[in-house]
Amino acid sequence: MSRRGRVLLVGAGPGDPDLITVRGAEALRRADVVVYDALVARELLALAPPGAELVDVGKRGHEEPTRSQAEINALLVERARAGRVVVRLKGGDPFVYGRGGEEASACRAAGVPFEVIPGVTSALAAPAYAGIPVTDRRHGASFAVVTGHRDAARPWTSIAWQKLATAVDTLVVLMGMRNLEKIAETLIAAGRAADTPCAVVMEAATARQRVVTAPLAEIARRAREAGFASPAVVVVGDVVRLRDEIAWFEHAPLFGRRVLVTRPAEQADELCALLRAAGAEPVAVPMLRIVATPQGEGVAAALEALAGYDALLFTSANAPRCFAAALAAAGRDPAQAPPAHCVGPATAAAARHAGFAPAEGPAERFDAEALLALLRPRAAGRRFLFVRGEPAGSRLASGLRAAGARVDEAVVYRSEPAEVDADALRAMLVRGALDALTFTSGAAVRRFASLLDEPARRAARTCQVAAIGEPTAAALRAEGLPVDAVAERAGARELVEALAEACARKGDPG
Ligand code: SAH
Repeated sequence: MSRRGRVLLVGAGPGDPDLITVRGAEALRRADVVVYDALVARELLALAPPGAELVDVGKRGHEEPTRSQAEINALLVERARAGRVVVRLKGGDPFVYGRGGEEASACRAAGVPFEVIPGVTSALAAPAYAGIPVTDRRHGASFAVVTGHRDAARPWTSIAWQKLATAVDTLVVLMGMRNLEKIAETLIAAGRAADTPCAVVMEAATARQRVVTAPLAEIARRAREAGFASPAVVVVGDVVRLRDEIAWFEHAPLFGRRVLVTRPAEQADELCALLRAAGAEPVAVPMLRIVATPQGEGVAAALEALAGYDALLFTSANAPRCFAAALAAAGRDPAQAPPAHCVGPATAAAARHAGFAPAEGPAERFDAEALLALLRPRAAGRRFLFVRGEPAGSRLASGLRAAGARVDEAVVYRSEPAEVDADALRAMLVRGALDALTFTSGAAVRRFASLLDEPARRAARTCQVAAIGEPTAAALRAEGLPVDAVAERAGARELVEALAEACARKGDPG
């Protein structure tokens, strides 16, 4: 057996993909195989390297298994023995009703090395996202986590409900939806007060999160009437009262809104994560894709003359990424390149990440005009390399030349129309399934508009429309799409803030 082969039992956390741990995300980035469950956020699979094998074993805890546990164990062992790094990705924590223990035993029995990377369990996170601390000095000092699932082999009643009913202050029930009626009856019969406050938290930590609260005697009926279903966590105990005061996620500025993200996939992650953190559900439909052009116009000449430039200019995060790749292909190192001026914090972060040194003084400006204003006074006689994409987006080069600088240009990427399922996009718009649309470039606006028919265009006009920067807003207006929010500064955070303000002005979603 190869020394590399191993199984990593990784907790994905519940709902929001950003609730995975740093170490869990890092494990995914070096996975050869990812074996995942139904509850795992799909966005996490994108962290795996492009060639990784992704295996959906479709389990929701103990519910609806599509593959037997024995088959899953055998799969993990077989792949690890073949020398692959196998990430076994589970919702929440792998050892909380995740059968992680059984899989670890199977690895041990087969002599396959394994590691456990714990996750944020829904048993704690679902109450937390509903504004319910499982312990609180005022209301409860202890908690227990139980399963409400009826397991054929271990009758539901075998769980010591009678004892649990009064032994702990807070009870957290996972997989409890099907038997909620029976659970509540049993707890009351065993001495728990019928008016104990209860909550059911469904699809916690997502834009679809719903919470219902009621006294223990009524919670099952109320949850049923409200159409609650799995995945949901039930919380029983006085701590539930605190929700009135502490509920926070449902008050997030974009809670429950579905927001179209048209950005190229390469740049969409930060925007999507910020939208989720603001309570929204990002719907990524990239309009353009980025294609690196290591042999692009001016690249070879720029590499020749690299040492002669005073500074590099980057106006998009794609530029440092693609330029670093071009340098690497030529056996060169970004650390030896001249320092870089950047437009926007994401670009500066990408430049740092790729290994470029920041230019002295304020290396970073929020838009190209501001960078031009910064550089113009000292531009005469200086030599810049503008590393950019095709088509060129700003007046930076011409402005600097007019001020007496010498500016060479290297085209290290181009953007192309991405493949879009236009029927699905139009259908989403017409159905009213999108509350807001976000745009970060004029080119994306034009591509989007070109995909619409008349009904979809009418529907798009009823959405909140947000643009990064004035040029993108102008492109939207030119296409007949009214703009509700313009981020003055070219950052994903600013775009989300501008959208949140526009939504607050307009009121509730829908
Ligand atoms: N290992 C998981 C639990 C798996 S059992 C963990 O630690 O979270 C599956 C149960 O987890 C579901 O029936 C539900 O009770 C709960 N659950 C998982 N994700 C949830 C979510 N986002 N919201 C509410 N409950 C969730």
